[in-house]
Amino acid sequence: MNRHGETFALYLHIPYCRRRCSYCDFNAHVLPESETDPFLAYREALVDDIKQQAGGTVTSIFWGGGTPSLMPIPHLAEVVSALHETFQIPSSTENTIEVNPGTASLEKFLAYQELGINRISIGAQSFQAEHLELVGRIHTSPEIVGCVEAARQAGFTNISLDLIYGFPGQTQEQWSETLRSALKLSPQHLSVYQLTVEPSTRLEMQLAKGELELPPEDEVVAMDDLAVEVLTQAGYHRYEISNWALPGRECAHNICYWADQQYLGLGCGAVSFLNGWRIERVKAPSYYQRALKSGRSPVVFAERRGHDGALKDHLMMGLRVAGGVDCRELARRYPGLTVDIMEAFFQRLPSHWWKRKDSRFELTRAGWDFHSEVTMALMDVCFFSPATL
Ligand code: SF4
Repeated sequence: MNRHGETFALYLHIPYCRRRCSYCDFNAHVLPESETDPFLAYREALVDDIKQQAGGTVTSIFWGGGTPSLMPIPHLAEVVSALHETFQIPSSTENTIEVNPGTASLEKFLAYQELGINRISIGAQSFQAEHLELVGRIHTSPEIVGCVEAARQAGFTNISLDLIYGFPGQTQEQWSETLRSALKLSPQHLSVYQLTVEPSTRLEMQLAKGELELPPEDEVVAMDDLAVEVLTQAGYHRYEISNWALPGRECAHNICYWADQQYLGLGCGAVSFLNGWRIERVKAPSYYQRALKSGRSPVVFAERRGHDGALKDHLMMGLRVAGGVDCRELARRYPGLTVDIMEAFFQRLPSHWWKRKDSRFELTRAGWDFHSEVTMALMDVCFFSPATL
């Protein structure tokens, strides 16, 4: 497949973590204890995966995981040089790495600068020691502060912090303190998530056994309200359900997903969406490495997205962002869809969940709180049979 001339966002998956957090259901694997460097085999496989690609221009790069900041710098440098041999990467390209504060150092941040990384996404999650320990994070609250300071000292001016609310036993005061501690560090961007209980995680088992209890729903809603109040006052705007930015500091890479644009995902378990195809790579690092070492493809699933699936994905993602979706633009991409059909769909939802401006439909803050319900409703609707509405 020749992708010269195409543009796409690029995701690189680094799967290893020092320890597994209790709520995590990502494709993350505890770093194996071995005498040899486990990153060596992974780096070799990732470089082979990159070199098998057929060029194209990268619009953003995101190193995610796992814990990409665990990857030793010489391995990262090899991967970066393979990227430059394979793709066009304009110097202004947003290039983000996820950093766990327990793995950060000034030397690492200086090396990231040398490698062209220009945005740091720090998995802070909480500034409360009891919550960090409760979910098994490997870092402390002072290490978050040290991490941001080191990144700044190395010259980074685009820093994002991830925060979680709704921990078992968390009070409003503790959440308020976490928000205040985060704002004291003046990040350009914040991702704020409610703690979710994923199947087969340690957290799910602890809750099922009654060892832990989540805060009541009304308290969690109050925490969300508090975040909206505090972050708005501090000058951040909520440009997506869970994401807040200072003006001009929105994450270009994630915007690409929400705008349903093309992306190439490399590394174990990485997902791509290219030319209408959804493509998935094998999840286990060992299978991924074995496939590439023996010259086989690491792809285990590929499916052409149909017309209805594409439209539903587009709407589902588009309704996550402020500004929503433009129906005229949708009609160009999906013939048969009209503003009237969209209006009929939205009329079925409570009126305070959504608003319309000309051909643009977006969810209100109340609607965002029910985004999954809106998505479910979308799944039930056949847009091309107005009679069913
Ligand atoms: S550090 Fe991130 S990827 Fe690793 S186990 Fe924790 S939540 Fe999962």
